[in-house]
Amino acid sequence: MNAKEYLDLEKSYGAHNYHPLPVVVSKAKGVWVWDVDGKKYIDMLSSYSAVNQGHLNKRIVKAATEQMKRVTLTSRAFSNDRMGAFLKKLCEVSGMEMALPMNTGAEAVETSIKLARRYMHTKKGIPENEGDIIVCENNFHGRTTTIISFSSDPDSKKGFGPFAPGFVTIPYNDPKAFEKAITKKTIGILVEPIQGEAGINVPSPGYLKELRRICDEKGVLLILDEIQTGFCRTGKMFCFQHEGIKPDILCVGKALGGGLYPVSACLASRELMSVFTPGSHGSTFGGNPLAAAIGEESLNVLLDEHLDKRAVEMGEYFVSRLKEVNSSKIKQIRSKGLLIGVEFQLGPKETVRPICEKLMAAGVLAKDTHEKTIRFAPPLVISKAEIDWAMERVKPVFEGA
Ligand SMILES: *Cc1c(COP(=O)(O)O)cnc(C)c1O
Repeated sequence: MNAKEYLDLEKSYGAHNYHPLPVVVSKAKGVWVWDVDGKKYIDMLSSYSAVNQGHLNKRIVKAATEQMKRVTLTSRAFSNDRMGAFLKKLCEVSGMEMALPMNTGAEAVETSIKLARRYMHTKKGIPENEGDIIVCENNFHGRTTTIISFSSDPDSKKGFGPFAPGFVTIPYNDPKAFEKAITKKTIGILVEPIQGEAGINVPSPGYLKELRRICDEKGVLLILDEIQTGFCRTGKMFCFQHEGIKPDILCVGKALGGGLYPVSACLASRELMSVFTPGSHGSTFGGNPLAAAIGEESLNVLLDEHLDKRAVEMGEYFVSRLKEVNSSKIKQIRSKGLLIGVEFQLGPKETVRPICEKLMAAGVLAKDTHEKTIRFAPPLVISKAEIDWAMERVKPVFEGA
């Protein structure tokens, strides 16, 4: 089959809930992917930062294949010999005390909402079936019915109501608005340390610290969604570590599965996590031995290869190369580590999609985030030479845009 036939086949039988670039990938390694015609591309998306360790990372593939020869699924009806060590490591790298393993990011967020509500209902006197979680404009926390209820993106919501109550929206990067929005019935704030899907929105320095201070003062919970910013992407294992604070509840996913498998978790203190009792929450696949083996090795790779430092160094180099691009259409470059957004000055109806298509033709796979911004978030194993390879192609496309 040729590329067009693959695209048509998928279009005929697959729901059209995405608008992918028309590249048909059949192979990948490190920062590289190849299409069905054997053409090579550099991956600047890393599946929304789920492939921080690089495609087909040798150690993670080995851990997975070895585990596949032993046992892959027990369900939580039985214990397995992999989950404890995995969760211990996850707690160690995050500084949290306990973890509840799930599969997808949205499930980690759902778990954090249940945990926060039950804690405030049973321990802090907010009456059952009451209480609000504060969220931010332009948030992205996943696609379940509860989560889209507090999205501000009309495309994510239209036709999917009725929506779940219990959420209050405030502007992002505005601690004063948060302080003002808190009432006796506030459960906490759910927030991304950097808004990825909103266009790599990097808040002012001290934002998280300020949220932490307000949460402590008012006795409400700080719930951080580090599903995209976590696991070394921004130059630290977690983005909150840049500000020397700790959340009450932490949602992780994406790169925890090393690009091989969906692995997510919700982390918290022992005190908070104690509100979950047998039967109150669960997942057939959450914490399965294959996920645990992959998750543990995914963390080992991040630690052993110092991918936090690498994200800092390569991020600085990448941004310096992007700044050399001579184009009046580039409005702003926003970044932290290897999470980079290039925002373009375009007409009101124009998007960066045509630029992404030109980049694709040149061998660079990058995707728009929020219409006017192109995200560069390659696997963290990227080298200077690979960034140079990409920039040789990015520069002429941007300068001709
Ligand atoms: C990707 C993402 C999610 C959702 O993760 P899924 O695995 O797609 O359910 C939630 N929050 C953030 C910040 C994300 O980037």
